[in-house]
Amino acid sequence: MSKQISAVRGMKDIFGDEARAFDFLVDTATDLLRRYGYQPIRLPVVEKTELFVRSIGEVTDIVEKEMYTFEDRNGDQLALRPEGTAGCVRAVVEHGLVGRGQMQKLYYVGPMFRRERPQKGRYRQFHQLGVEVFGVETADIDAELIALSARLWRALGLDGLTLEINTLGNLHARARYRQVLVDYFRANYDVLDEDSKRRLETNPLRILDSKNAQMRALIEAAPKLMDFLDEADREHFDAVLGYLDTLGIAYEINPNLVRGLDYYNRTVFEWTTTALGAQGTVCAGGRYDGLVAQIGGKPTPAVGFAMGIERLMALVLDQKLLPYRSQADVYLVAVGEAAQRPAFALAEQLREALPTLKVQLNTGGGSFKSQFKKADKSGAAYALILGEEEVARRQVGVKPLRGQGAQEQVSWDELAEHLQGLLCCYL
Ligand code: ATP
Ligand code: MG
Repeated sequence: MSKQISAVRGMKDIFGDEARAFDFLVDTATDLLRRYGYQPIRLPVVEKTELFVRSIGEVTDIVEKEMYTFEDRNGDQLALRPEGTAGCVRAVVEHGLVGRGQMQKLYYVGPMFRRERPQKGRYRQFHQLGVEVFGVETADIDAELIALSARLWRALGLDGLTLEINTLGNLHARARYRQVLVDYFRANYDVLDEDSKRRLETNPLRILDSKNAQMRALIEAAPKLMDFLDEADREHFDAVLGYLDTLGIAYEINPNLVRGLDYYNRTVFEWTTTALGAQGTVCAGGRYDGLVAQIGGKPTPAVGFAMGIERLMALVLDQKLLPYRSQADVYLVAVGEAAQRPAFALAEQLREALPTLKVQLNTGGGSFKSQFKKADKSGAAYALILGEEEVARRQVGVKPLRGQGAQEQVSWDELAEHLQGLLCCYL
């Protein structure tokens, strides 16, 4: 035997209940997104490195430490995408999907790559479902995005998520605030940890985001960006909160929520849980009104969010929300040579007549007993039994597998109608 090859560290196979939870999440979310008027977009996994440096920011964790970059054979500097917004903006600019008051509501699902230390809820390949709206400046769309996410948690049955929200104002307000913050942290230089000392020079707002408990008191007492906002930014934020109040969506204003990417302005928010340990953010987003122009498009306001599918998947499984779905409604048992081809035809006939019926045809042969065992394991409500005698009479045995009830013989022509009667509540 050859030596086994294992998956790359931090790159996770998803199978079994996790894979079913993945589909359940994506199906539920995409149904909802369509109801809110969103269109799908599919984007490449590889982009030019420069795209991420220019959008996410040079001195962010992602660009400094986490990106998978490589040189292509022709010398191009490329990267596996660490997030979806930059590529989405590149695409809408490249294809002229934004500008002139046009609105675009888009969503995408796919793998993202960050070279972080793998742990529960943190992987090097993970998946995001991202939602982006282009062309709307007003607070109503920020609030609608949040309402959409809140509705998704309800649709999934998820409990225990908290909405944290903040505003980052505009670039000028942030520049004024940045200076005050740097002065404050300089005055308390000895309390700063190594990471924060480094960030003081490069990205001081990120110090507010530190998870280091020893710095909590210092951060709590720091000057607040909220006090440096312009009138228009404050009104925008108040309007977002007003809409949330109207809808009865609870939130916590977290003045230290700054997000790890440079492109945000005004509204930022995160949905968090305490159920996943340190990896508690399951959905994060905000407004990025400057990014489209920064990527070479016409100035276009934009706002969006991304959900971490693996973290939501863990919550769905922990809270036992994955709906039970049997592999089959009916399982077709075919015993004897003469029954094989008619069984094939019958299975296809049923799939044609009843488009929502889950039909499993026994494949791989086997005795009556072993086929029946497989039928039982499939979770089907009924076994359909086809032996040589049934074939001669153009009939099939219909035997309930759950609960009581005798086997009935039904003619091939009437089978679909018969099953529809039996399974009316499933189909
Ligand atoms: P964190 O603070 O947990 O590192 P982040 O701010 O880097 O998150 P975003 O860039 O906002 O994360 O990505 C949006 C969402 O994607 C996160 O809220 C999280 O649910 C998920 N996510 C981010 N990085 C990872 C990862 N390495 N593994 C799994 N999920 C992730
Ligand atoms: Mg991160």
